[in-house]
Amino acid sequence: MAPTTTQRPVGKARSLSGLSPFLKPYRLQIGLALLFLVLAAAATLVFPFALRTLIDGGLVPANRADQAMSLGQHFVALFGVAVALAIFSAARFYTVTWLGERITADIRNAIYAHVIEQSPGFFESTQTGEVLSRLTADTTLVQTVVGSSLSMGLRNGVMGTGALVILVWTNPLVMGQVALGLLLIVLPAMRFGRRVRKLSRASQDRVADASAVAAEVLNAVPAVQANNAIERESERFAQATNEAFKTAARRARARSLLVGFIIMATSAALLWGLYEGTQAVIQGRISAGELGQTVVYVIILAGSAGILGEVYGDLLRAAGATERLMELLHTPPNIQSGHERPALLLNPAAEPLPAPLPGLAIQMRHVNFHYPSRPQQAALVDLNLEIFPGETVALVGSSGAGKSTVFQVLQRLYDLPDTAAQGGALLIDGLAIKDWDLDTLRRQMAVVPQDAVIFSTNALENIRYGAPEASEEEVYAAAREAFADDFIRALPQGYQTYLGERGVRLSGGQKQRISIARALLRRPRLLLLDEATSALDAESERMVQAALDAAMTDQKRHRTTLVIAHRLATIQKSDRIVVLEQGRIIEQGTHEALLAQNGTYARYASMQLLD
Ligand code: ADP
Repeated sequence: MAPTTTQRPVGKARSLSGLSPFLKPYRLQIGLALLFLVLAAAATLVFPFALRTLIDGGLVPANRADQAMSLGQHFVALFGVAVALAIFSAARFYTVTWLGERITADIRNAIYAHVIEQSPGFFESTQTGEVLSRLTADTTLVQTVVGSSLSMGLRNGVMGTGALVILVWTNPLVMGQVALGLLLIVLPAMRFGRRVRKLSRASQDRVADASAVAAEVLNAVPAVQANNAIERESERFAQATNEAFKTAARRARARSLLVGFIIMATSAALLWGLYEGTQAVIQGRISAGELGQTVVYVIILAGSAGILGEVYGDLLRAAGATERLMELLHTPPNIQSGHERPALLLNPAAEPLPAPLPGLAIQMRHVNFHYPSRPQQAALVDLNLEIFPGETVALVGSSGAGKSTVFQVLQRLYDLPDTAAQGGALLIDGLAIKDWDLDTLRRQMAVVPQDAVIFSTNALENIRYGAPEASEEEVYAAAREAFADDFIRALPQGYQTYLGERGVRLSGGQKQRISIARALLRRPRLLLLDEATSALDAESERMVQAALDAAMTDQKRHRTTLVIAHRLATIQKSDRIVVLEQGRIIEQGTHEALLAQNGTYARYASMQLLD
């Protein structure tokens, strides 16, 4: 099932185990990080011990000369500890941060690669804004945990445990009080922490909501402006960000109360310990150095406890994010590639095919299909269609008849229902479409869609998009065939001209001709043309029409062509006309034969609906 925004799993620390496959490749780095971490913690723990020997051994002795010498030695030793601490801390910081960044980058790449192999059906139920938010916000949370919280937690865990062990060892009496005091601090702090955590998650979700609003509007700015909706949309966004702000403010309030409480409680416990300690020193039960040492260990212990509490909160937050990420990563691709590669196609999938292969043969037998998002409505009903290699077939029918659906099913962007009884059979070159290796199958085809897609790169690369191996000469040839060469050469930098995001600098007809050139360059064995020229001005229309004509006639023997046709000129060039209505084939034959039948096609033709 596709994930949705409402499904926010509650974080459990064990869901962090989803990260382990991403950690495995970096065992060496993790080992190093742990080593530096333990060394830095050990250096910290040596400090109070050195302090005690300084006080007891350096400040107290009777002989002045001895004292000066031993003081000097003590300070050298202290500085030595400081140097070790500095080096180990820096090394720890670098390795841990490196790990956090590396692993986050790996997760981002894995999720991105997985998402773009999902079929269009996946994006009918998942908003792209949500995917983007997971790629950025959720991975950043994971990064915080791996790159800092986890190391902070481990460091403080090691230090806290060390301090505790030393305290027990040196001073069992004070220990009892300290442990009790800590318990009194940790328990309420954890309760508080839970609230902070909940609010953190909520604030994260509100931020995602605001991003979703922005993503939707930014994709439709012209429509927003044309409908005088600028103010309304600004207001809607402001409301969303305000919600995010309010949740964040609540989180900050809870967190500052927590911090205040921890500081106050820790100070109280410390001062109490100090008071008890000074009493003990006065009564001669312990030395001044022992007191100093104990105080520092208690500070370390209390500090560790406080930080561990926060880290725990971070871990839970990141666990929620990890769950969402893993859920996305483990969504099985709804289109599974087959393994068959017909013997004559054993060249690598990315290379242009050798020209002399014949066009593809298509057999559709009793095909039934509905879109996953509309299970009640059949898009194709008991469709029987056989298309022979090299044939040019025109698909004709009113809007919504199922013409584009035939294209989508042929490219295997959607799968037919599983059983033959439900879905019928779709054979490409005699092989069931599901058995084809998906890459190889799609390599046989090229599509000129209704809305031409232009990528944010130059004209040359835009045409080469579907055949990256093609030489520049081949690109020029394809552009000439598609009547695109002249206008591209007239652009400021010719083929090197950057076409901008979504090709905003081109007219509709120019985009379409680039799209046709891109399709021709693939030298497809099946060309799927969607003849959508209605939005073009007369001049562009003529050019696109010429390009389409060329595409339909050139190399005809080596190519099967299926064209969603709107004009008689196109239809008359095809070998056969297939008339669709509500997902069914209602008529098929040549133009003349269909006119003679005097049915739906004849009516279309007479009403000039086709022209
Ligand atoms: P045509 O190309 O002939 O205009 P389509 O093949 O696009 O028709 O559509 C056939 C039917 O399938 C229509 O009822 C349409 O509403 C529906 N349809 C098309 N695309 C989708 C989709 N992605 N999800 C759900 N229903 C769709």
